[in-house]
Amino acid sequence: MNYSRQRELILETLKEYAIHPNAEELYTQVHEKDKNISKGTLYRNLNRLAEEGIIKKIDGLDTTSHFDHNIHEHYHFICTKCGRIYDIEKGETKFPKIDVQKGFQVTSSDIILKGLCQNCNK
Ligand SMILES: [Zn+2]
Ligand SMILES: [Zn+2]
Repeated sequence: MNYSRQRELILETLKEYAIHPNAEELYTQVHEKDKNISKGTLYRNLNRLAEEGIIKKIDGLDTTSHFDHNIHEHYHFICTKCGRIYDIEKGETKFPKIDVQKGFQVTSSDIILKGLCQNCNK
């Protein structure tokens, strides 16, 4: 399988498996479709896709990086009980106003909300 086909397969799988997987979880899915894909190939492709802005890399949820095919600006909610990661649309939640120090230029924001999801909050 050539490079661009592998990249396509990884991207395709991330879209189908849209639960913000980390590289390990995504590898399990991709590997099922193509036994020849190595972890190194997957990591390289994920990082490159994220650098190019085709997918989004989310850090800070836990000790691993997670990947998101949805690159329009949104926030994430992580359930502290089941560990599922949900998309939160901007505007659904009010945040405290943040005062950024003078001289700092904000180019993007990654807000991670934590708590219990609907299922776990029953
Ligand atoms: Zn939950
Ligand atoms: Zn997301």
